[in-house]
Amino acid sequence: MGDKQKFGAGIWHFATYVDRYATDGYGPSRGLIEMIDLAGQVNDLSVVDINYPFADKSVSLEDVEKALERNKLSVIGITPEIYTQQFAKGAFTNPDPGVRRLANEMVNDAADVVRRFGASYVKLWPGQDGWDYPFQVDHHELWNASMDGVGELASQNPDLNFVIEYKPREPRVHMSYDSVARTLLGIEKIGLPNIGILLDFGHSLYGGESPADAAQLAIDYNRLFGMDVNDNFRSWDDDLMAGSVHPIELFEFFYTLRKNNWEGVWQLDQFPFREDPVAVANGAIDFLKVVERALDKLDFDAMRAAQKKHDAITALKMAEKALYSSY
Ligand code: FE
Ligand code: FE
Repeated sequence: MGDKQKFGAGIWHFATYVDRYATDGYGPSRGLIEMIDLAGQVNDLSVVDINYPFADKSVSLEDVEKALERNKLSVIGITPEIYTQQFAKGAFTNPDPGVRRLANEMVNDAADVVRRFGASYVKLWPGQDGWDYPFQVDHHELWNASMDGVGELASQNPDLNFVIEYKPREPRVHMSYDSVARTLLGIEKIGLPNIGILLDFGHSLYGGESPADAAQLAIDYNRLFGMDVNDNFRSWDDDLMAGSVHPIELFEFFYTLRKNNWEGVWQLDQFPFREDPVAVANGAIDFLKVVERALDKLDFDAMRAAQKKHDAITALKMAEKALYSSY
């Protein structure tokens, strides 16, 4: 891989945010073109994932194309916003069939944008598909609707890949696609080749998984289509700068990708509420380059030998030495 490793980011990394406390936002709101121009200031960013519909309705596909071009960026994925107000009770699992139809239409529109930009996938993040209360839903119906919604889209667009980004919770108290195992189970049940997982390192941590193990499982089922990184304190999707809290687990995650010859973009999904987004992106990419150098340095055969014996101390020391000497 060496210098060829590509880095990417969700364009929302360069937005400003509102939460339930700072209802006036953490800064003046930014339009999509401004966000793309900020992404262009990051030292080593090649691709972005863009939300659809665009943040500002006045922006045309041509405007976006021009902004991407002048910033030497391309599009890896399009994320349809199937989690905003109209989908408060779910997109694929909404009790109203009319709203489920709207979700399907929005994702199909996003699919056309993926074709237009020559992107790699449509990203599904069904953040409102789930439940909040005991007895609120019929779990059989909800899970079937989750699979049907994704299956229908994948069969309507056999020329494109769809990725599901799972997450345990938020905004829904419990998300339907909550873990690697459940998401794989759903994908295998649907049984189509063009549905995979986008593994978010932070969601995996937050869900109590080991991201390295989750990645291996998704790879073993040929369903790891994409990934993104960030960090958190494990009790919430904090979306902090990658490497800031769990550097060793991040290293094991990338070790797993390299060991399996998984090649793809290393993407950032961070929410710099209070920090300069360009500085946070640069800070994360700097650390990812440390990880990359550490992988080049690590003796994979020796690591395999230590793991054959489940020799925790030898394996961990090798990992630590490679990582901490690669700055
Ligand atoms: Fe993510
Ligand atoms: Fe997240």
